Amino acid sequence: MASESTQNGEQRRHQEVGHKSLLQSDALYQYILETSVYPREPEAMKELREVTAKHPWNLMTTSADEGQFLGMLLKLVNAKNTMEIGVYTGYSLLATALALPDDGKILAMDINRENYELGLPVIEKAGVAHKIDFREGPALPVLDKLLEDEKNHGSFDFIFVDADKDNYLNYHKRLLDLVKMGGLIAYDNTLWNGSVVAPPDAPMRKYIRYYRDFVIELNKALAADERIEICQLPVGDGVTLCRRIK
Ligand code: SAM
Ligand code: CA
Repeated sequence: MASESTQNGEQRRHQEVGHKSLLQSDALYQYILETSVYPREPEAMKELREVTAKHPWNLMTTSADEGQFLGMLLKLVNAKNTMEIGVYTGYSLLATALALPDDGKILAMDINRENYELGLPVIEKAGVAHKIDFREGPALPVLDKLLEDEKNHGSFDFIFVDADKDNYLNYHKRLLDLVKMGGLIAYDNTLWNGSVVAPPDAPMRKYIRYYRDFVIELNKALAADERIEICQLPVGDGVTLCRRIK
């Protein structure tokens, strides 16, 4: 059994490494990155990752292994009409834009345009900016507006949700009408830095503690929702794929 000091050490490491919730060894994660991810990462994504690394909120970015996963997934499902809630500097957005066909579309929403614009030159240089329709502001009213028009119902092939965790269930209610039958909604950070299994009195950063109960609630609600099939993957900070079946 691990000594108490080792356990504490591990807890500290977990809090520091935002992109790893299940892999117990940093070396193993590094191995995945160096062996399979970085050598195949498109130049533009590498550049955007480096731009983002200099930004003070860089902890929010999608990890390179998750970016690779998203790209593969989008191609596997032949996604064309997609949506992203929570853009930040655009790493997952660029992964999506690169994976879509030339006439593919991404409706991208974020309350912060400045961070999007930090990554935009890289996205433009990659020649995929024409696929992106960026809307500045909270996502919920945009979804409500979309729902007013019947032709948007069941029109999205893929939706990536990576924003305010306390709104995920509000998004879910609306997104189920907007995604097509058999289409996918991916909810990001569903392991929430491993905090979903931490005892309530465990040391946690403030924002981790604040959103933790919402993430736990979401995970239970998704597991109980008969309108979807689900698969929760230990990629990045946990991503739950939901396939609409009703
Ligand atoms: N997917 C991004 C990437 O790959 O870098 C990371 C997104 S970051 C974890 C979360 C983002 O959600 C932030 O940029 C934040 O401004 C945005 N956000 C927070 N509340 C929001 C809301 N109500 N509507 C839209 N975006 C929101
Ligand atoms: Ca995320």
